[in-house]
Amino acid sequence: MTAIVPFLDIAAGNRELHLELDAAYARVIQSGWFILGSEVSTFEREFAAYCGAEHCIGVGNGLDALHLILRALDIGPGDEVLVPSNTFIATWLAVTHAGATPVPVEPLAATHNIDPARIEAAITPRTRAIMPVHLYGQPADMAPITQIAAKHGLKVIEDAAQAHGATYLGKRTGTLGDAAAFSFYPGKNLGALGDGGAVVTNDSTLADRVRDLSNYGSRQKYVHDSAGYNTRLDELQAAFLRAKLSVLDDWNARRNVVAEHYFKRLTGADVVLPAVIDAARPVWHLYVVRTRKRERVMRVLAEAGIGVQIHYPIPPGRSAAYAETSAAKVDCPLADTLSREVMSLPIGPHLTIEQVDLVCEALLAALDAA
Ligand SMILES: *Cc1c(COP(=O)(O)O)cnc(C)c1O
Repeated sequence: MTAIVPFLDIAAGNRELHLELDAAYARVIQSGWFILGSEVSTFEREFAAYCGAEHCIGVGNGLDALHLILRALDIGPGDEVLVPSNTFIATWLAVTHAGATPVPVEPLAATHNIDPARIEAAITPRTRAIMPVHLYGQPADMAPITQIAAKHGLKVIEDAAQAHGATYLGKRTGTLGDAAAFSFYPGKNLGALGDGGAVVTNDSTLADRVRDLSNYGSRQKYVHDSAGYNTRLDELQAAFLRAKLSVLDDWNARRNVVAEHYFKRLTGADVVLPAVIDAARPVWHLYVVRTRKRERVMRVLAEAGIGVQIHYPIPPGRSAAYAETSAAKVDCPLADTLSREVMSLPIGPHLTIEQVDLVCEALLAALDAA
């Protein structure tokens, strides 16, 4: 059956912005310039300013953004990077692609974000960086993380792919570590109409290295200083993203209204609701609840036409991709439990309160029946 309440209605966002998106398309088509032009450089300035950072470098996607940061920091074979045990696999893959080893750290059960109290036990002489993920749109608890990093001489790389505009102690993600990676995959809070990503940092040397690596290791055409990659944000996507950036705060605020309504309707129900730490202002990329009755509840919700999803059903360390690696041997019982119990309810800037009520009524009935 078709969804009465879709998990996320991207087309509704495009309809709302169609004049701006059409104008962006027309500008780029008429310019005849598609790679590394004024749309990209302008978007980079605008997004850096939005984050409150010095530099933004547009790249091809979020995975490449993470990978290029590691490469620019010379993190590679023989090095270890601490990653959450319960993230999207891209966080781990970036480390693997750089030739380094991902070392999982378990989350706080309440927030699902990396547990600062478990970080030091995972540090070895080979550890080079901590890569916290601002999972589901809530900033990780960055103050203790950066403190531990400073004490051990480690870099902090934010995976901000789900947290455009979220703040921690009043500072936006992208400015909370040494460098941050963003994804502009269409379903993200700031989404392009295709793939896209960015590196954000206050470190000029790092920014230059990322920029070179993203464009064939070259600053001057046909002069190649390093064995770089081709992973660039293109002009069309940058133009679309400029239109989307102008409404990001408004759309994040609308997500927040949805989240507030879920809290209001679901508090007291037999389901674990998201916990938010005092220092954080999340942007609700996802609204994730926990229940041991997930399979039955999801079946009932699907029958009622409610789009629910699981983020994520298999922890990276349990996936076939990591089966033969040292990371798979690290026990992560909390990641295992979360992967069995989490369920993401519909959320987005175009969900109506009537739709949120439908979700809540269907969920409450499903929980009772299960
Ligand atoms: C989406 C996502 C990425 C990867 O972004 P892509 O643009 O799809 O490569 C990385 N980390 C997290 C946590 C994500 O959600």
